[in-house]
Amino acid sequence: MSGGFGLHDLPIRDDLRGQSPYGAPQLDVAVALNTNENPYPPSDRLAAALARGVAGAASGLNRYPDRDATRLRAGLAHYLGHGLEARSVWAANGSNEILQQILQVFGGPGRKAMGFEPSYSMHPIITRVTNTGWVSIERTREFGIDVEAARIAIAVQSPDIVFLTSPNNPTGTALPLEVIEQVARVAPGMVVVDEAYAEFRREGTPSALSLLPSFPRLIVTRTMSKAFAMAGARLGYLAAHPAVIDALQLVRLPYHLSAVSQVVAGTALDFTDELLGHVKRLREERDALVAWLRDYGFAVADSDANFVLFGTFPDRHAVWQGLLDQGVLIRETGPPGWLRVTIGTPEEMSAFRHALLHVTGRAD
Ligand code: PMP
Repeated sequence: MSGGFGLHDLPIRDDLRGQSPYGAPQLDVAVALNTNENPYPPSDRLAAALARGVAGAASGLNRYPDRDATRLRAGLAHYLGHGLEARSVWAANGSNEILQQILQVFGGPGRKAMGFEPSYSMHPIITRVTNTGWVSIERTREFGIDVEAARIAIAVQSPDIVFLTSPNNPTGTALPLEVIEQVARVAPGMVVVDEAYAEFRREGTPSALSLLPSFPRLIVTRTMSKAFAMAGARLGYLAAHPAVIDALQLVRLPYHLSAVSQVVAGTALDFTDELLGHVKRLREERDALVAWLRDYGFAVADSDANFVLFGTFPDRHAVWQGLLDQGVLIRETGPPGWLRVTIGTPEEMSAFRHALLHVTGRAD
């Protein structure tokens, strides 16, 4: 059917010509440590509860779901704590949809968003797709954000949206609360703190949630894809002033969150303690990997997430390919010379360590 007809022949928007889609390779490998997923599948008990929940929802699927996802939002607010209520929380299909809705309300033609890179690649992609301008500011050598540089950039650019990712992907860097506070003080528009990896922070690194009462234009985004091991369920959420939730209603599609998604996410929340137990193991595994990599002389960025950025390699692609040849898929991302590996099970990490020593010629 294709007959030589291709993307170039279609009347797509001029600003989308030449753009690339988000593209983490989905390869069938023994050890997949490339998309920051949680390696622990739902326990039998959780899987059975999910099945019961879905069966319950099944008999009502002739009806549209609760458009406001009220029950789920109350559960998420309770989980977040900080005195939050359902009216301060909003949910969607992954935090990517949350980010898209934010851009749809607060971005758009003639507006611009600012990010501190390297950071999550979807921030500029969603920004551009919503026809919003993108301003990229460089992170420091330690992958943090220089407050003075940020203040100047914000004063000069006057961005409508500022993205702060903490812990940051792909570097793993968490931001001190003072940095977020200083940015929120000077930003003229919305400040979005992407906390997709919040649960993996090390002791003593606070969440931006505590700043919400002081800054009505601050948004904290979260996801159930990582700590809750629900990447396949697609459930992201945010906490913000209730007025922000009202604003998002202007762009959300009616009934965007299926009845199945709502019941699955609610059931996962009932298993918070069990799921966060796995997070503790992953944090320990992460800290052990950081120490091990440093022992072998690799450069490693401090990590508050479920992945580690390490390097540096004159030819990182060769290292990435060498690992893949041994059945270990990691991610070729981050500044030149660096690679990112997601924390998996102890067995997966052992396979990764073994393969890395082999590929880099450090094996005995
Ligand atoms: N934010 C960050 C920083 C991420 O790394 C990711 C996923 N890799 C997301 C948001 C999106 O997650 P999801 O759509 O699965 O909630």
